[in-house]
Order: sequence, then structure tokens, then C-alpha cells
Amino acid sequence: MLNVPSQSFPGPSSQQRVASGGRSKVPLKQGRSLMDWIRLTKSGKDLTGLKGRLIEVTEEELKKHNKKDDCWICIRGFVYNVSPYMEYHPGGEDELMRAAGSDGTDLFDQVHRWVNYESMLKECLVGRMAMKPALPKGMLPQSQVTDTLAKEGPSSPSYDWFQTDSLVTIVIYTKQKDINLDSVIVDHRDDSFRAETVIKDYSYLVHVALSHEIQEDFSVLVVENVGKIEIVLKKKENTSWKCLGHPQENHNSFIPKKDTGLFYRKCQLVSKEDVTHDTKLFCLMLPPSTHLEVPVGQHVYLRLPITGTEIVKPYTPVCDSLFSEFKEPVLPNNIYIYFLIKIYPAGFFTPELDQLQIGDYVSVSNPEGNFIISQLQELEDLFLLAAGTGFTPMVKVLNYALTNIPSLRKVKLMFFNKTEDDIIWRSQLEKLAFKDKRFEVEFVLSAPTSEWSGKQGYISPALLSEFLKRRSDTSKVLICLCGPTPFTEQGMKMLHDLNFSKDEIHSFTA
Ligand code: FAD
Ligand code: NAP
Repeated sequence: MLNVPSQSFPGPSSQQRVASGGRSKVPLKQGRSLMDWIRLTKSGKDLTGLKGRLIEVTEEELKKHNKKDDCWICIRGFVYNVSPYMEYHPGGEDELMRAAGSDGTDLFDQVHRWVNYESMLKECLVGRMAMKPALPKGMLPQSQVTDTLAKEGPSSPSYDWFQTDSLVTIVIYTKQKDINLDSVIVDHRDDSFRAETVIKDYSYLVHVALSHEIQEDFSVLVVENVGKIEIVLKKKENTSWKCLGHPQENHNSFIPKKDTGLFYRKCQLVSKEDVTHDTKLFCLMLPPSTHLEVPVGQHVYLRLPITGTEIVKPYTPVCDSLFSEFKEPVLPNNIYIYFLIKIYPAGFFTPELDQLQIGDYVSVSNPEGNFIISQLQELEDLFLLAAGTGFTPMVKVLNYALTNIPSLRKVKLMFFNKTEDDIIWRSQLEKLAFKDKRFEVEFVLSAPTSEWSGKQGYISPALLSEFLKRRSDTSKVLICLCGPTPFTEQGMKMLHDLNFSKDEIHSFTA
């Protein structure tokens, strides 16, 4: 069942009317919800005005279509007539018009690279951009230009492979020191083998159709101090391979991450547990032959087909409990991804997610995010300010800091919720505070019952200045913030006013 959001909820200042990244969502007119858009795209109406034809669009032609009622935008070489979509765009018409008659790829990437525009706008596709005339001698075609760009960033990795009777080892030389097991993501399906290594803001891809069959399980090893990654595959038959395989799309490419599409794999729902009245812990199982560890502080995108259109929303993986780092894993490592997800009855995506049965599939993307784990190194005081499900990125940060940062003296979480019933993992947080004296938690409620004796209200300078006591003027401090966008924005401003520097603050956004 799909619910079309009502106009009265949420309140005009609620975070749900504000998109991530600080962009305001404009109130949409009646009948202009995402669901209404999907209905229109399925209605068979000619949305491009080209009667189903696809054309080659020159730059001159593109420039002509720069008005609201005749607006073409190019994204990654494909041109869309977005005029019919104007009134349905959650960011408003003006936002779309910024790219009218031009290449909107960069603007699009700045705000919502993850939005599956191909699916959302497929009925608006006008055609491809015409190829530019050949470049003058001495200039490089596009494929080589990326290589040149990469030279401005980290130096380009390379790969090699070798074999024994039973094993094939692929070695990726990243030429970087800070490489971890979560820097590489491996997916092997049928004969397609894909290993994406993330190096700073760049992505290096080994993508081949293997020449021979391999077994389901493989291992991934990282030799950190030399930045070498080894992926050890087990041959199905002990024959000698003449080559590793045939190159597939973007094989051996090293390009800025923002220029790569998001890669998804289908994961199976294995359990779903109530955590509060509206928030659930979802456990998804990665497909066999996958190596994917979501780095601390990063999120992924979940993708589900909703009435035939692929819909994508970001979610932040958590641990299965606040104590998981301290106990022996019951289940094999790195096969499961956990999410704490709040179900909004009138939301678009979460009711569909909640409808999934155990055994059903949902697609999970590669990780994204700008949290840098080295920010935690040598930290003495860590302050976490979370509101509602803004608690989710704090889970791994908290676990990681308590387990891996020897210099850490104090971690304090201030957790903002409406009522006591809304507090996620309250008893776990209280137990953790009891067990580990470095950790303290304070709950702040905006609409408590009369029995509540704790703090109440909203994020405020008074609450923050009392809470954020640094040990000494020189102690290394990090403050992490996450919640509804206005909460995060107000919090950031208050922290600056309290003289915390930019380097001492990390806000989680999309
Ligand atoms: P939406 O359709 O977005 O609606 C949410 C609510 O707002 C509903 O009540 C709906 O009725 C109302 N609404 C929406 N638009 C309008 C409108 N125009 N007019 C009136 N009412 C409207 N969430 C989690 O639970 N867990 C996580 O781990 C998590 N991680 C995230 C990580 C990132 C980086 C970001 C940016 C967000 C994260 N979120 C997380 C939020 C998540 O991505 C979704 O926004 C959330 O699940 C709501 O999705 P939905 O489609 O169900 O609801
Ligand atoms: P919620 O329950 O609506 O709100 C949590 C608390 O914050 C409540 O006490 C609420 O007060 C308060 N609050 C709401 N708006 C506020 C504002 N403008 N200023 C100050 N306080 C405010 O939260 P939720 O429904 O769980 O939503 C969580 C949000 O976090 C979502 O927007 C989600 O997208 C975001 N999120 C982001 C990430 C990320 O990495 N970027 C990760 C997870 C979640 P009232 O309800 O009384 O107004």
C-alpha cells in the first residue's frame, strides 16, 4: 500500500519538509507528490513532446530550451525535458531552473547524486548529447582525461594477478598507506568479478568476466603499510588460467568517486525487530561472494521498486547492538548489515520497506559519506548530539571510539527525542554508561509526560554550553551532530558561537 503524504503533516517547520544538505523542500501543490509523478509517467502521456522519438541534442539546441515550460537539462550526457516534472520536484522549480538549457550534472551531483533520475525521468528522456567534434591534436579524449585528472589526486593504482594450482590471487597496488579492509568492495556474480577500491575521493575498479569458474568464498587481505590488497579466489577446477578474464565496463579505471554510478547488490531481509513503537532493527544479508564493510560514519542507499519505479533513500548501517564490538560474534562476520529505521506511516519508502517479508530482497548500494575516521585519532573528548534516527551514525562512531582510541577519556551523548517512548536503545545506552565509565548519556525530550524528571526542550546554547565541557583548552575534541536538518543547522551555528572550530565539528548530512 502506498500513502500519499498529507499536506497538514508534518508541521511547516518540521525536518520532513526540508531535504538533506540544507536545501529547503518546498510545499508541493495538491496532487504533485512522488506517487502522483509516478502515476503520470505510467499514464502513457507523451512527456517529451517527441512522440517517443529519441534525438541527438547539440549544445546549441540544448541552450534554446531554457524556460519553465520548455526546459531541457543534460545529466551525464543524457538530455531530459524536465518541464512536466517542475511541479513535482521536491526542491522546487527554481532549483531545477538553475540548470535549464545546460549540463546540470555538477549541480545534480552536489545535491543528490544518489537520486535514481534515470528511472524517475525515463519518460522525459529527449536523447543523448551529440558528440563534440574531434579535439584538436594534442588534447586527450574523455577516457584519458579522467586519467589526467586523477593525477591531481592520488596516484593511479594498478593491479596484477598470479596463480597456483588451486588459487588465483588478484593484487591491487593502491600506492596509498591508509588502506583498510573497508576500502575495497568485491562483488562476484556469475562470471562478473568487480573489485572497487576507494582511495580518498577516487575509485579504482577492477572489473572482468573471469575466464574460469571460481568457488563462492574468497578472502580479502590488506597489507596496510604498503597499501596492497590481495583478493584470493579459489579455482573450481585445478586448471591453469591463461588470462584473468575479459575486461568489463570501466575496468582498470581510476576516476573521481562522484563520477562513478552507485553500484547495488540485492540483499535478503533476514530479520526485523521492533526497537520502539515506530523504529525497527532490520538485518540484511549480503549475497554470497561479496566483500562489503560499511566504514564508520558512512551511509548506503536502499533501493526498492515502488509501483515499477526504483526508489532510493539513504540509511546508516549500525551494529546489531551497542555491545557487539565487545562480544564474540554469534553470526559469521561481515555478511550482515543492520539498520535502525523509523517507519513513517505516511512516508513513501519506509512503509514499503516495512511490508517486506523475511526472505525478500532490497538493493544496497556501495557506501558514501564524508566522515573521516582519522578525525577520531588521539581524541580525548567525543561529544555526540543526536535527534531521533540521527542517532544511527553515532552507533558505530561510539563503538569505534570506545574500542580503538586509547587516548579517549570521555564520550558524551546528548540524545534529543519527543517522548521517552521514542528513545532508541535506551536501556542499552544506560547499560553502556554503567559498564564503561568513559561514556555518559543524557536524554532531552521535547514533549515529555509530567513524570519526566530529566532535561526537556530543544537544542539550545544553554544546553550545549553546559554539556560541552572540554577537559582543558588544549584537549582534542570532536563534536558529531545528526538529526532533522534544521536541528543540525541550528546546532552547527550554536557550536560556532560557542567558539568550537570547524575541525572540531562533524555534521552528518546526505
Ligand atoms: P518521506 O516520504 O520522506 O516522508 C517522511 C514524512 O514526511 C512522512 O510523514 C510524510 O508524510 C511527510 N512528508 C514528506 N514530504 C511531504 C510534503 N511535501 N508535504 C507534507 N508531508 C510530507 N532514517 C532512518 O530511519 N534510519 C537511518 O539510518 C537513516 N539514515 C539516513 C542517512 C542519511 C545520510 C540521510 C540523509 C537520511 C537518513 N535517514 C535515516 C532518513 C531516510 O533517508 C528517509 O528520509 C526516511 O526514512 C523517510 O523516508 P520515507 O520515504 O518513508 O518518508
Ligand atoms: P523526530 O523524532 O521528528 O525529532 C527528534 C527530536 O528532534 C524531537 O525532539 C524533535 O522535536 C526535535 N526536532 C525536530 N525538529 C527540530 C528543529 N527544527 N530544531 C530542534 N529540534 C528539532 O526525528 P526523526 O523523525 O527520527 O528524524 C530524524 C532525522 O534525522 C531525519 O530527518 C533523517 O533524515 C535524519 N537523519 C540523517 C542522517 C544523516 O546521516 N544525515 C542519519 C539518520 C537520520 P519535536 O518533534 O517535538 O519537534
